[in-house]
Amino acid sequence: MQGDIHTAQRVTAGVTFAARLSFEDIQHRFSPDAVTLRGITLSAEPGEVLCLLGPSGSGKTTLLRIAAGIETQTSGRVLLNEREIAGPSVFVPPEKRSIGLVFQDFALFPHLSILDNVRFGLTAMSKPEGRKEALIALERVGLAQYANAYPHILSGGEQQRVALARAMAPRPAVLLMDEPFSGLDSRLKDSVRAETLAILRQSRATAIVVTHDAEEAMRLGDRIALLNDGKLVQAGPAEQLYERPATLFAAGFFSELNLFRARASGGYADTPLGRFDAAGFADGARLDVAVRLSAFDVSETEGATEARVLSRRFLGVVELLELAIPGVEEPVRARVRIGELPSRKRDIWVTVRPRDVLVFETQAENA
Ligand code: ADP
Ligand code: MG
Repeated sequence: MQGDIHTAQRVTAGVTFAARLSFEDIQHRFSPDAVTLRGITLSAEPGEVLCLLGPSGSGKTTLLRIAAGIETQTSGRVLLNEREIAGPSVFVPPEKRSIGLVFQDFALFPHLSILDNVRFGLTAMSKPEGRKEALIALERVGLAQYANAYPHILSGGEQQRVALARAMAPRPAVLLMDEPFSGLDSRLKDSVRAETLAILRQSRATAIVVTHDAEEAMRLGDRIALLNDGKLVQAGPAEQLYERPATLFAAGFFSELNLFRARASGGYADTPLGRFDAAGFADGARLDVAVRLSAFDVSETEGATEARVLSRRFLGVVELLELAIPGVEEPVRARVRIGELPSRKRDIWVTVRPRDVLVFETQAENA
């Protein structure tokens, strides 16, 4: 298997043969009472861009470092295609894994030319061969014209692309990127993200991209794997995580929510915003009813529930409303398109669209 991968890379100019990277029940702890990963089973399919999403401290970087071989799991296995690269009796060193890593802080060496920065990971090659491969990698990211310049002349986005070229130059089967866009300002981010995705597609490398930003994960990932507290919450295409989140945590990660407590009764949950479908929950079950901010239709004349507008904040395409609803202590928040509520009227009606309501059984704290 290993031989196959390497032969394939040699004969194919500029294109990597994609591999599957699999984690099998990965557990990790830095110390006996500091558990980082609690049994992660997950695969990135050949040629796929998998986004590893989760809040800070959820274990994303640790999982990438385990894949790269610069951290060792406490138990479980990592496989590249069917080959074990880290497990109870096997440890393939990082440089032999055919896995490239772009760190969060992708610092380039300021005293090396851009070409030499890219050549850095090609130490196994002769100098002319390394130069040639580094130039190919720079061409792929559209920066070959800067080969002999130094990093300081490049913008943040261009530097990020050099870091990408550096990781891709050895033609890894799998590319791991740890929050690669977090250092870029928000205007640059969009274009650099789109360029990076195009480069990944073209190279056909399997990629795992870490982010803590759900929108970024949706823009980039063929699939998203959501982590929380060292556990895999849910993995699937963006639509699936957004439309059918497995838990309240997953729902809250993808959209802002208003939360109501209710009890299941006859397949329904009654809330101050109306009665919602709760089929499948036993009578009396404690429920969390999550209503997306985008769930609201507003009207001056008719609707399901009376509301008083407490505040309106203009956000460009939409406005954010804070509403007082009878029977609810906290203001209810709604996001509506500009123009839907034209007048300054304070007393209005709201109707909640059922598809933007998500119902979960209430979990015990920390369950
Ligand atoms: P993420 O990348 O999702 O923010 P990390 O994998 O960096 O998460 O960290 C997961 C957990 O492990 C955090 O609670 C973090 O504080 C802890 N941790 C990370 N690195 C170390 C380390 N070298 N020693 C001890 N604990 C660490
Ligand atoms: Mg991290």
